[in-house]
Amino acid sequence: MEPEQLAFASEASAWLADNVPRRWVERRSSLVEEEVVQIRMDWDRRLYAGGWAGLSLPVEYGGRGLGLAEEVLFGELAARAHAPDGYGRIGRILTAPTLIARGTDWQRSRYLQKILSGTEFWCQGFSEPSAGSDLAAVKALARRVEGGYRVTGQKIWTSFAFHADKCLFLARTDETAPRYRNLTMLLMDMRQPGIEIRPIRQISGGSEFAEVFVDDAFVAEEDRLGAEGEGWSVAMTVLNSERGGVEAVSRYVEMRTDIDLLLGCCAKLADRIPEAEEFETRLELVRWQVRKAITREGDERAFTSATGVLKVFWSELWQEMTRMGLDSMCPVHRDHWNLAYLDSRATTIYAGSSEVQRNIIGDRILGLPR
Ligand SMILES: Cc1cc2nc3c(=O)[nH]c(=O)nc-3n(C[C@H](O)[C@H](O)[C@H](O)COP(=O)(O)OP(=O)(O)OC[C@H]3O[C@@H](n4cnc5c(N)ncnc54)[C@H](O)[C@@H]3O)c2cc1C
Repeated sequence: MEPEQLAFASEASAWLADNVPRRWVERRSSLVEEEVVQIRMDWDRRLYAGGWAGLSLPVEYGGRGLGLAEEVLFGELAARAHAPDGYGRIGRILTAPTLIARGTDWQRSRYLQKILSGTEFWCQGFSEPSAGSDLAAVKALARRVEGGYRVTGQKIWTSFAFHADKCLFLARTDETAPRYRNLTMLLMDMRQPGIEIRPIRQISGGSEFAEVFVDDAFVAEEDRLGAEGEGWSVAMTVLNSERGGVEAVSRYVEMRTDIDLLLGCCAKLADRIPEAEEFETRLELVRWQVRKAITREGDERAFTSATGVLKVFWSELWQEMTRMGLDSMCPVHRDHWNLAYLDSRATTIYAGSSEVQRNIIGDRILGLPR
C-alpha cells in the first residue's frame, strides 16, 4: 500500500473503532425492523458527519474527491469492524454515480449532498408485475404535460419505498416507438398525492420492499434524467453500478461477518472447517476481483468485464455459507443464521437473477454465440 493509503486506512480504522454502534455488533439478529432502519439511517448520517460518505464523489457535492480504491478500502475496513450497511444504499450506490455520469448540474447540486448526508432516501422503481428480467417491458406511463410529466402505473418489489423521499422511476413515454427507445428515467418525488405504498411481508418477517401504485403523480421537466427515450441506456448505467464493484464490497461487509462466525465456532460444530476455509478463500476472490476492476477504472468495457462476474459469485457463495450456518445448529448463532439464510435467498434474484446474469456474461463478456 502507498503511504497515503496507509494513512487513510489507519485514520478510517480509528474512526470505525469509535463509531460502529455496539448495539448493531452485539444484537443485530434480535433487533426489530424499526430499530434496524433507525440504526442504518443514523449510520449514513454518522458517515457523512465524519467525512466518510461519498469518498469517490467530487468535493463540490459533499464527497471527498478520492478514488474508487479508497471507497473499496473503506468498505473492507468497515467489513472488518462489522459496521452496518447504510439505509441510503440506493441513493449512494445507484443514484449518485448515475447523476454524476448522466445528470444535469442542477440535478447534481440538488440531490448529491442530500444523498450523502442521509437527508433524503431513495428507492428504485424499475420492476413491475410483468417487467422483471424483461425490464424493457415496463408499462408505467408518463404523459407529457406543461412543465413535466403525469405518471400512472404500478411498481413492485420496490426496496426502501416506505421511507423513501425520491424514486429512480423508469417509465414508458412513447407508446409507438420501438422497444428500448420508448422509455425515460424520472426522478420522482415519493411524498406527493397519487403515490400509494403497500408493504410486502417477506419470508424473513421484515417488509423492506413494497408495491408502489402511482396515480397521476407529477414529475417536473428538470427531474428527467437523460433525454426522453434514453431511459433504457440510463437504466443500464444504474444496473452497472448495482452489479459492480462498490456493491460487491458492501456485500462483503455482511459476508465477512458470517465467515468470522463460521470459523469462530459454527463450522467446528458442523465438523466442516475445510469447507468454511474454502468459503473464506472464495470471499477473498471477490475482494481481489474488485481490486482488479479498480485498475481498469476509466475503461468502461474492461471495468464491466471485471465486475460482471461479481454478482453471481458473491450471491451464490453467501447462500452456501448461510446454509452451512443453519445446518450447524449452533446454539449461540441460531437466530443469526435463521435470518441470514432467509435474507440470502433473495440475492440471486434482485439486481438481475443468476440465470440472467449468466446470459449477460456469456453474451456480452465472453461473446459466446447465441
Ligand atoms: C429482495 C428483493 C429486492 C428487490 N428490490 C427491487 C427494487 O428496489 N427495485 C426494483 O425495481 N426491483 C427490485 N427487485 C425485483 C428484481 O429486480 C426482480 O425480482 C428480478 O429482476 C427478477 O424479475 P421477476 O421477479 O419479475 O422474475 P422473472 O423475470 O419473471 O423471472 C422468473 C424466473 O425466470 C428466469 N428467467 C427470466 N428470464 C430469463 C432468461 N432470459 N433466461 C434464463 N432465465 C430467465 C429468472 O432467472 C427467474 O428464475 C427486488 C427483488 C428482490 C427479491
